[in-house]
Amino acid sequence: MADAEPSTGHPVAAATLPPGLRESLISGRIHSAYLLSGPGDAPRNAALCFARALVCEGAPSEAPCGSCGTCRRSEPGEPIALDGAGKKGPPMRHVGDHPDLLWIERGASDTRVRIGQVRALQAAMRLRGSEGSHRVAIIADAEWLNQEAQNALLRLLEEPPPRTSLVLVTQSPAGLLATVRSRCQRIAFPATTGDALEGEEAAEIIDYLNRISTASIPQLLDWAESFRGPRAIAAAGTNELLGVASAWLHREICQAAEAGRTDLEGPLRAFETVQRCRKGLAQRNANPQMVAERALLALRDGALR
Ligand SMILES: [Zn+2]
Repeated sequence: MADAEPSTGHPVAAATLPPGLRESLISGRIHSAYLLSGPGDAPRNAALCFARALVCEGAPSEAPCGSCGTCRRSEPGEPIALDGAGKKGPPMRHVGDHPDLLWIERGASDTRVRIGQVRALQAAMRLRGSEGSHRVAIIADAEWLNQEAQNALLRLLEEPPPRTSLVLVTQSPAGLLATVRSRCQRIAFPATTGDALEGEEAAEIIDYLNRISTASIPQLLDWAESFRGPRAIAAAGTNELLGVASAWLHREICQAAEAGRTDLEGPLRAFETVQRCRKGLAQRNANPQMVAERALLALRDGALR
């Protein structure tokens, strides 16, 4: 079950923090907002590690000590599924059961991080931390904040309550308002090579993706067959395909949501499948051709019509 929803789970792997975050922890100069950007799970893992280290009772260090009472409370367990509307689940949760570590992300069946979630977060941030502790809120997929939610967030960024930090995590900062970005301490993770949708190879893939909803199954299998051969080469090709497909579908979904469409369950399901494929390729040595096949079939079924 945990395997079925990897993108909504708390990462548990220990993260090596980038220099900007390490310096903050060791010097005690904590900013009120951080923006962590980059592909994959690294920014998310780092946000979690950083937040836990901020409330750790141990000596200032670049990681949570893991053994104090606070660290035991902030140990991420099985995450509670969020629902942006607050009906099937809460709009936000704590990290572990630590009262001062707040976590929001897009609900499993939502097309965006909802403004109600941002407001709930704001209200929670204005409460005093328990026993004078620092409060930290993580928005784990800020690329799903629409403009309205970002504007609501601006108020928190402009007047941060004392002893609070907001940590925004995004695959790409391009979707965030300049006014939001400029108020954050920015931490870019390596391999952020600009926009996944740019470049010649990406253009070729996008051209195909734009027509995928009308492609036949044999055509898709043909395409997937081009991802066979020596694994390293095939895996790099599949990885490129998944990266572009992911960014492309994200853009399609956001544009459709902004245009008022609500029938986006199919595309969102396809998006989740592509994320699972990326993970399988990276972590489980999955066969690149099979991964490409699975992703392309999901994209065909889920493409916007
Ligand atoms: Zn600790």
